[in-house]
Amino acid sequence: MTNIQKQEIENLRGNFRGKILLPEDHGYDTARQIWNGMFDRKPSIIARCVGTSDVIHAVNFARNQNLLVAVKGGGHNSAGTAVCDGGIMIDLSLMRRVTVDKQARTARVDGGALLGDVDYETQLHGLAVSAGIVSHTGVGGLTLGGGFGWISRKYGLSVDNLISAEVVTADGSLVTASAVENPDLFWGIRGGGGNFGIVTSLEFRCADIGTEIYSGLIVKRFEDAREYIRFHREYVRTLPDEMTVWMVIRHAPPLPFLPSEVHGKMMVAVPFVWLGDQARGEELINPIREITESLGEGIGMNPWVGWQSGFDGLVGHGARNYWKSHHLKGLSDECIEEIIRFANQLPSDECEVFIPHMEGAPSRIAKDETAFSHRNTPFVLNIHTRWQDASDDEKCIAWSKDFHSATNGFAQGVYVNFLSEEGETRVKDAYTREVWDRLVEVKNKYDPNNLFRVNQNIKPSG
Ligand SMILES: Cc1cc2nc3c(=O)[nH]c(=O)nc-3n(C[C@H](O)[C@H](O)[C@H](O)COP(=O)(O)OP(=O)(O)OC[C@H]3O[C@@H](n4cnc5c(N)ncnc54)[C@H](O)[C@@H]3O)c2cc1C
Repeated sequence: MTNIQKQEIENLRGNFRGKILLPEDHGYDTARQIWNGMFDRKPSIIARCVGTSDVIHAVNFARNQNLLVAVKGGGHNSAGTAVCDGGIMIDLSLMRRVTVDKQARTARVDGGALLGDVDYETQLHGLAVSAGIVSHTGVGGLTLGGGFGWISRKYGLSVDNLISAEVVTADGSLVTASAVENPDLFWGIRGGGGNFGIVTSLEFRCADIGTEIYSGLIVKRFEDAREYIRFHREYVRTLPDEMTVWMVIRHAPPLPFLPSEVHGKMMVAVPFVWLGDQARGEELINPIREITESLGEGIGMNPWVGWQSGFDGLVGHGARNYWKSHHLKGLSDECIEEIIRFANQLPSDECEVFIPHMEGAPSRIAKDETAFSHRNTPFVLNIHTRWQDASDDEKCIAWSKDFHSATNGFAQGVYVNFLSEEGETRVKDAYTREVWDRLVEVKNKYDPNNLFRVNQNIKPSG
């Protein structure tokens, strides 16, 4: 590091309320860690921001010093884009404040908050923000890509509930993005990821769901997977938006309601959430119980905060992950055969085949309303490849890629938040042609020099 660079860093420190960490500093190694243990990247500087002015100082410093910039929200993205080698990591993970306006049913959320932070605060009033299903995921990255979870079929995606956002753009300006202020930016951040600036806070509409929901998990035999999935593909599409039923194929964790001989065996888990009266919910899920034999079930009125963190332990921090995904046009017999074939060869006990059902409120929103494309997807196929030892990398990654290729013919598009490092063509698959062209225009205006490029990148055309 030159003396000039050292002086610039000292100047940055002088203006900064949070912490500037260099590789020799205590806390540096913890701060650079992200959810996916595959990434051991070492930024030259980590700027741990505690407020918007810190973010502005960090952006100005990065631009003036011509540094590569990675932005860490919750640090959860499986592509590892929250951290870079060299350059600066602008770390928002200390910015987690959530403020709820009970009367207006809105929540203002800091750019580094986690989903659990939002659930804890909104649930004080029986409210919830439509978002994802694992409480240690970041609200920032999830929302900027789209954001779906247990209540999105009823209430829309996270982007559909975003009212406004505060954004620090590449030139260091702080701007509001909403339907009335900078509407082009507001359109772009609702699906275009972190390409246009750093979002320091997000304002959401909340849903009034109460504090307990009828929900649970029915576990089916893997031996009956063919028959069950054929039933499931039709059944879920007959359900009202208040009922969300998904499917996960994996080795059974030691769930308390499963007999011990089932633990570790292959299963088809069918989790559901019902937003309504318990008796009606029970009627609606009965067909799942009746179609094939069940190995067990854990169902009841669950506290929302508990349900939302119930799966956290299965996808904790630090494991090695290589995720592949695409939207499925449907679950044809041929597609089901491929799913079963690859499920039969899971390369580790932690891998899972995750198939959420997506249709509902998001599909009824006009396709030019936000940058989130592919709103009419019935199913997503997520290949969650997860393991512990680096010596298994090759085997696990090969399985994931082969599975993905074998199901490609049944797919149409992808959710940008589920991409690994897969290149520009694949990023384009997350969007329609019209949306992509419009995203490039927004990029040209707000980040013409591509300062924010450690992400699923939309390159400016200039
Ligand atoms: C276990 C697991 C469960 C998941 N479940 C769901 C789910 O239920 N629903 C769903 O929709 N998605 C889900 N996802 C995908 C998730 O939406 C993405 O991984 C998302 O990027 C996570 O956001 P983050 O802030 O934690 O990520 P980070 O890794 O911190 O950030 C990812 C990228 O987002 C951008 N970014 C993040 N925060 C900001 C910000 N404040 N301002 C500007 N840019 C920012 C940056 O470009 C960064 O590179 C899941 C992922 C995992 C690993």
